Amino acid sequence: MSVLSKGLGLILSGVGFVLLFYGMSTTDALSFVWSFIGLIVMSFGFAFLTAGKPKEKKPPPPTVTEIQCGSCDFKEIRDFQRGDHVLKIVEAACPKCQGTMTIEGVYIIREEPEEKYNV
Ligand SMILES: [Zn+2]
Repeated sequence: MSVLSKGLGLILSGVGFVLLFYGMSTTDALSFVWSFIGLIVMSFGFAFLTAGKPKEKKPPPPTVTEIQCGSCDFKEIRDFQRGDHVLKIVEAACPKCQGTMTIEGVYIIREEPEEKYNV
């Protein structure tokens, strides 16, 4: 179905293009009508072409991992890595006291759209 609408879109765009240029090159009294029709047909063609496009996949929401040292109060937030889960012991040692660090939480950062008001 999408292939059909794409082909139709291509044909319509092509026909519209030809009509538009025919209307522009001819000195016919109806030349502006041909250009006008050409423009409409072309826009229809482009509409068909863009309608068949699959929607782009949204990237996964940004996720962060919160790591906390068990010996001191050192906390670090880094990008989520595959395999991260709460209370997992991290391979890296605490940069402050070389203690064992565990994952305290995994958070998904929700980006809320900025609300702008023109007053
Ligand atoms: Zn520490």
